[in-house]
Amino acid sequence: FKDNAALEQIVDELHEGGVNVVVGSLDQAINWGRSNSLWSLTFATSCCGIEFMAVGCARYDFARFGFEVTRNSPRQADLIMCAGTITNKMAPVFKRLYDEMAEPKYVIAVGGCAISGGPFKSSYNVVCGIDKIVPVDVFIPGCPPRPEAIMYGMMQLQRKVKVEKFFGGVNHKQNAEERAEAMK
Ligand code: SF4
Repeated sequence: FKDNAALEQIVDELHEGGVNVVVGSLDQAINWGRSNSLWSLTFATSCCGIEFMAVGCARYDFARFGFEVTRNSPRQADLIMCAGTITNKMAPVFKRLYDEMAEPKYVIAVGGCAISGGPFKSSYNVVCGIDKIVPVDVFIPGCPPRPEAIMYGMMQLQRKVKVEKFFGGVNHKQNAEERAEAMK
């Protein structure tokens, strides 16, 4: 339908006839499914990883929100949760795992170390922020962030995925401004 008014009229007529219909774009339907089945590659390198494990356990249980399971293979993961300090020696491995994930893929930086090097940022061997290695979609501050904060960050990623354009060859990274507008 190019004409929204005609579509609205049809929907109204169906409602009046007692037929319940939900109208949306194919993008919305696909993104609804994708945002509610985000599987993460675990990359817990230090103490923040313990908080991430807590989020997956029964008390917080991120499976309730569609994060369901974590994967150990980048080929089965939609996002990489970087929870902990990344050293210069570890950085190429982290980048390689990211490169092995299929598009569309996402990154969440969990905790001060992943965001900026945290308490170790003056150390010669620590990467001061994983955004220097890979593009980061969500930053979750804290040392460590509480499980509630991690859950909130994961839900922010879901919001981002829901407003993406899946069709038309639009790269989700290039679409950042449009997506930010849609999330307002
Ligand atoms: Fe540990 Fe704090 Fe770094 Fe998290 S941010 S890995 S809790 S030192």
